[in-house]
Amino acid sequence: MIIFGSKATLVATENLLDKCPNCGTERSVHLAVFQNYAHIFFIPLFPMGKTGATECAHCKQVLRKKEFPDHFRRSYSNLKSASKAPLWTFSGLGLLAIFIVFGGIMSKQKDDKNAAWILAPQEGDVYEIKLDYKQYTLYKVHEVVGDTVFVMPNEYETDKIKGLRAMKNKGDAGFVQEFFPLLKEDLKIMLESGELLDIDRKE
Ligand SMILES: [Zn+2]
Repeated sequence: MIIFGSKATLVATENLLDKCPNCGTERSVHLAVFQNYAHIFFIPLFPMGKTGATECAHCKQVLRKKEFPDHFRRSYSNLKSASKAPLWTFSGLGLLAIFIVFGGIMSKQKDDKNAAWILAPQEGDVYEIKLDYKQYTLYKVHEVVGDTVFVMPNEYETDKIKGLRAMKNKGDAGFVQEFFPLLKEDLKIMLESGELLDIDRKE
């Protein structure tokens, strides 16, 4: 369940010089500007506009923005323009940006690693293979002879990429003791076409 909502935080206050429209007391009205912000799982995500309220220190009357008389509205507008959304109300967006950049770097590193490893296969390399739509398995490199790579297929298949982890956890037991040849050139094409998804190598 995603908990999404909005909250408000106080960003500016001012004592108005005007009389209270209710009790007529001078300089008793306190104006406050609030910043609304969206949050998700209680992490502030982004600011969403401001609102305001006044309170009279004498008669305790509270007015919300839509109830302001014209001169209150002007003071509110000035104070609102002078106050910025606190930086922390953007925390969620900031985190998201960090995750995206970090994810991009990780993905680039993985691509570079795979591109290097596919050209120089080693005994024991495990290839994640996409056989078809929702059909995945593993190949393990048994031997490399010149440009030919002999791989052992796994006897199991899974309908989710996540399922490959469980297959890897089974270790060598899952691999069939039969080897079939693939050319290095073909492996490179499989990687580029997305048929070969990832490579594991014990380092
Ligand atoms: Zn008052």
